[in-house]
Amino acid sequence: MKFVEKSLIIRLLNKTPMRIIAMTFNGKIYLKDTLEKTNSITINHEKIHAVQQAEVGMTRFLYLYFKDFFKHWIKSHSWANAYYKISFEQEAYQNQYNFKYLETRRHRAWERRVIK
Ligand SMILES: [Zn+2]
Repeated sequence: MKFVEKSLIIRLLNKTPMRIIAMTFNGKIYLKDTLEKTNSITINHEKIHAVQQAEVGMTRFLYLYFKDFFKHWIKSHSWANAYYKISFEQEAYQNQYNFKYLETRRHRAWERRVIK
């Protein structure tokens, strides 16, 4: 797993109302801080996203991620509500405390979490 510490993109995104500690894109985990200073739960969460992205491909991941986001945003008009209901996020949040999760994870496990 490749890490980008003190990422410029995260610093720029944090100048908007967004508050980002880490994000995963195309096999790299971008961090606001150094790897040493980043919470291991956050790293585990991002590793789950890296596996999701690898299994569906980056383009499809982004399409499904934002499709899910806007579907829930239209219903709730809440950014936070829509974000937490994204099926990729549901899988990551529900398993980020389990450091062995990726060893036993089922293929496309996020698909089971699609909320209508
Ligand atoms: Zn996430």
